[in-house]
Amino acid sequence: MGFTINLTSSQAGEVISRYHLYSVPHTNNYTLFRAKYKGATLTIFKTLTMLIQGSGGREIYNDICEMLSIEKKTEKAANTTDAINLSVIGTDEVGTGDFFGPIVVAAAYVPKMQILPLMRLGVKDSKKINDIQVLEIAPEIMRVVKTSALILNNLKYNYLTTRNNCNMNKIKALLHNNVIYNILPKVSEYDAIIIDAFTTREKYFDYLKGQEIMIKNVELVEKGESKHIAVAAASIVARYLFIKEMEKLSEEVGFDLPKGAGNKVDLAIAKILKEKNEAFFNTIAKMNFKNWEKVKKDSRS
Ligand code: MG
Repeated sequence: MGFTINLTSSQAGEVISRYHLYSVPHTNNYTLFRAKYKGATLTIFKTLTMLIQGSGGREIYNDICEMLSIEKKTEKAANTTDAINLSVIGTDEVGTGDFFGPIVVAAAYVPKMQILPLMRLGVKDSKKINDIQVLEIAPEIMRVVKTSALILNNLKYNYLTTRNNCNMNKIKALLHNNVIYNILPKVSEYDAIIIDAFTTREKYFDYLKGQEIMIKNVELVEKGESKHIAVAAASIVARYLFIKEMEKLSEEVGFDLPKGAGNKVDLAIAKILKEKNEAFFNTIAKMNFKNWEKVKKDSRS
């Protein structure tokens, strides 16, 4: 959870003089002041945006609003971190709605100074760009910023869903948690970790129960990829890797495998079934999708 307030310079001065006894060192060029107080971390950026994070954040936020005589926002409104002023680790996943192919989760770390270069590259909501653009932009993203990705192949997916009783959201949660863990050593300073929301924050941590490593300071933001360029970048990288994996699988079957879970997929299943058995499907498809049962039933009738 985080709260942001855009300060005037005199307000920033008031906050700093009130909390200077609790100030802590910072190495980020964009940071003016940082303090830790009662379980909260308070950061004022040189742009005079203030970010309050941590379990005690609510209380500090209220105190500061009172001190500066500014109106308190509701949790939800205050929680929208200012995308332009922050260095963000963003994550997103691809392939969860596709019968064929793996699930790919990617993370991208976009420090504030890389936001503009990425925008110039054309990084934006990946739903607004096509596969050809994804193939062009993704390698550039991977060159310019730190990224990390995990590919859950079909064999593992099918194992997890049938033997291990994992549902799709649990699989997503495990992958997001892991990809964040993997990118953290590559990251210097960041202001927020934003996951493109697929569930609530509460349920997300329910899915992670029992995990040895659990990254806790994450925010799940709906339509994250249109709000944070780091999430958009992660999304494009994930799509890129998914396309590459689909190309490999398509080569194995001898024709272009369709995406999604629609009628084209049913036709492709029927076509492949003429030559291959169920064990083969186990390596290229998500067997708990309805498409599989449906085509098998049709082929029997
Ligand atoms: Mg998403």
